Amino acid sequence: MAMNGYEGGLKMIEELTTNAGQIQDKVLREILSRNAGTEYLRGFLHGQTDKQLFKKNVPIVTYEDLKPYIDRIVNGETSDILLAEPITGFFLSSGTSGGQRKLMPVTAQVAKKWELFRGLYESLVIKHIVDINQAGKRMELMFARPEIETPSGLMAASVTASIFKGSGFRASLPKLYTSPSETIFCPDPNQSLYCQLLFGLIQREEVVMIGSFFASTVIRAIKFLENHWQELCYDIKTGRLSHQITDSRCRNAASLVMKPNPEQADLIENICNCKSWDGIIRKLWPKARYIAGICTGVMRQYTAELEFYSGGLPLVSSLYASSEAFCGINIEPLCKPSDVSYTFLPNMAYFEFLPVKNERDESIEMKSNNEDTELVDLVNVKPDQCYELVVTNSTGLYRYKVGDVLMVSGFHNNAPQFQFVERKSVVLSVDMEKTSETDLFKAVTEAKALLDPLGFILTEYTSYADTSSVTGHYVLFWELKEKEDKHCKELDPKIMVECCFRMEESLHYTYKIYRKRNIIAALEIRVVKQGSFEALMEYCVSKGTSLSQYKKPSCIKSEEALKILDSRVIGKYFSPKSPL
Ligand code: AMP
Repeated sequence: MAMNGYEGGLKMIEELTTNAGQIQDKVLREILSRNAGTEYLRGFLHGQTDKQLFKKNVPIVTYEDLKPYIDRIVNGETSDILLAEPITGFFLSSGTSGGQRKLMPVTAQVAKKWELFRGLYESLVIKHIVDINQAGKRMELMFARPEIETPSGLMAASVTASIFKGSGFRASLPKLYTSPSETIFCPDPNQSLYCQLLFGLIQREEVVMIGSFFASTVIRAIKFLENHWQELCYDIKTGRLSHQITDSRCRNAASLVMKPNPEQADLIENICNCKSWDGIIRKLWPKARYIAGICTGVMRQYTAELEFYSGGLPLVSSLYASSEAFCGINIEPLCKPSDVSYTFLPNMAYFEFLPVKNERDESIEMKSNNEDTELVDLVNVKPDQCYELVVTNSTGLYRYKVGDVLMVSGFHNNAPQFQFVERKSVVLSVDMEKTSETDLFKAVTEAKALLDPLGFILTEYTSYADTSSVTGHYVLFWELKEKEDKHCKELDPKIMVECCFRMEESLHYTYKIYRKRNIIAALEIRVVKQGSFEALMEYCVSKGTSLSQYKKPSCIKSEEALKILDSRVIGKYFSPKSPL
């Protein structure tokens, strides 16, 4: 399907969503007719391509089930054991939300799909906000980690890096983006960020959008700016790049555009020098029309902080996508972050949905995965019902559980719209109870309200199930910041103890019963020094996670990550009594 201009994009969204059912059937038919002869599908379909047989025989799988096949391809066997189309490399998922990094085959088709997906989304931005292709430049912070060579000789890269590498994208960089490709591909994330901020500041009068894939990266950039604006202003004043930047490609890129500009440097210095950074983004980039960055799922905790810096600019959560499939776009880009839902595009993959218990039910636990539960087709999902997403795509994933729980919030024509609920795998548990990402978020939201009158903001949190003693307990790591950055306030231990109790009170019934029966010990909050979560991120990035795709884990499962936070603890507080 070709798309002509933004109106063509809007028309295509209408067509796709109107014909969602037929398009889904066609997508499945094409995948099966191409791949029925692969070793994997032959085992279940015996060369046939019938939808009913597919639903009856092909098992619902996780990465672990497909890993033996993918490993064989990674080690040099031909990829047609899993998919017919030749592969061009592998996607490397971030592994920060689910824990494990996964490799997935990529074909030439994927880049084309992404172009289409992005084009459709941008039509909506043009319709609702600004013609981003004409009005100015995007200061989009992008980070591509170096690719890794697999034994097969093919390269593995994050989805984002693969997108940035595409020739179409690279060609659009100078006209549409402030960051030159040398800064995006710089292997050192801090040097990359420094340079991207520098280029964004030099071109500040042209910037219409500030953003990154996830909201947390925008926050990180602003915090980085808080620590480095003097140095950046000095560079702008003198027209010379700081000696701290040693990457030769970044230095070359800078030397082509930098010239001394003391007036611009003074202006930026005056803005950054003010007491409060409330609304700093709008002040620094006066023509900006919106901030792009996903604010749903684990990212929702950053919304308040981003609103503080934004100066009233709308925060736009554009899309829902993963290494497994590009799934849905937000067709109301100007809606409130808490109301964001994603309209699924039926031409991106074949989508099925495994019902899970609705979080609004007063249920004790989420229903466990039941392989006998019938999967529901995209057009047959029911409003308000929660589902786990199952994807079949053209790159070798068949009935693959992505691990995300979504809730149906409505329909656009015949295509459902979903709110992101949580990652399925992020579960805190010390006994038989299960505490989900959403449970935790709610409890933390209740507890952190107690800090507000004291002038403290909770900037980051994560959790850990401490089972080192006979009776295990929940540990919450909290990083706090003074609202006015005066560094003079003391944390009141009484309030912190109250926060522990408030969290316990806000958790689910099973947790409270277990606490009452001493099956779980008192919840603990460990306050960590400022910068601890930054150190955690740097650790994950050093292990190969792309900064563009980094999602802070909601629950710590690695010893190393635990050590990083534990070594920065400045206060420990326990709940004083059982919540029941
Ligand atoms: P990756 O494993 O690096 O490909 O990251 C994909 C995962 O990021 C998805 O499976 C989701 O858990 C999360 N994600 C992507 N888009 C969104 C979104 N719009 N809202 C919430 N979470 C998202």
